[in-house]
Amino acid sequence: MSKKIIIAIDGFSSTGKSTIAKLLAKKYNYIYVDTGAMYRAVSLFAKQNNFVGKEFLHKDKLINNLDNITLSFQFNKELGFAEMFLNGQNVEKEIRTLEVSQLVSKVAAISEIRKKLVAEQQKMGENSGIVMDGRDIGTVVFPEAELKLFMTASADKRATRRYKELIDRGEKVKFEEILFNVEERDRIDSTREDSPLMKAVDAIEFDNSDMGIDEQFERICALVDRKILE
Ligand code: C5P
Repeated sequence: MSKKIIIAIDGFSSTGKSTIAKLLAKKYNYIYVDTGAMYRAVSLFAKQNNFVGKEFLHKDKLINNLDNITLSFQFNKELGFAEMFLNGQNVEKEIRTLEVSQLVSKVAAISEIRKKLVAEQQKMGENSGIVMDGRDIGTVVFPEAELKLFMTASADKRATRRYKELIDRGEKVKFEEILFNVEERDRIDSTREDSPLMKAVDAIEFDNSDMGIDEQFERICALVDRKILE
């Protein structure tokens, strides 16, 4: 049996991290963890309880309620990936809306929340054989990961992808607000004090502005195969 490794994928918003992560998980029979979904689910909880809105954040109230948040992933065979559950409810659709995207970076900057989610993520990776995507996986969650990737692409390309995704899902959104959201999240995520988004020194960077998914996947699989054999 081949060696199981940890694959950490970080990068800016909408750089196709989850697409690559899902393909890798399928090919290598690894567990895929979308850590963005976890921060999104906490943000949904905060929104539902009026702890966060466009103009406000009741940080202390949210922190005091952290024990009332239970997150779990449940594999959906038909979709071929795990869906996010918040306190037993499937929230996969609600967490992907533009409204949640507009709140999540504010919520994800709170250290107490990061501490809780990072501990859960580290537990999921205990047995390796995992591909995890996010913003701090190679730097904070698994600094010892065998393979670290860092994805980038131009803001325009990323906003175009996200815009298409939301339109396909039936959301009524304007391209300009998606572009603004993508850039604003990157700004908040990269400048926060706790675990800012940055490339780990040993991460391999992929700018996929002009690279198709097949080419990217092929190159990344070659890297994985090399690590598995090492
Ligand atoms: O990956 P996704 O775009 O769904 O992530 C949503 C948000 O969650 C990010 O913009 C960031 O604020 C936060 N996040 C984070 N750390 C992670 C994953 C996501 O702070 N590991």
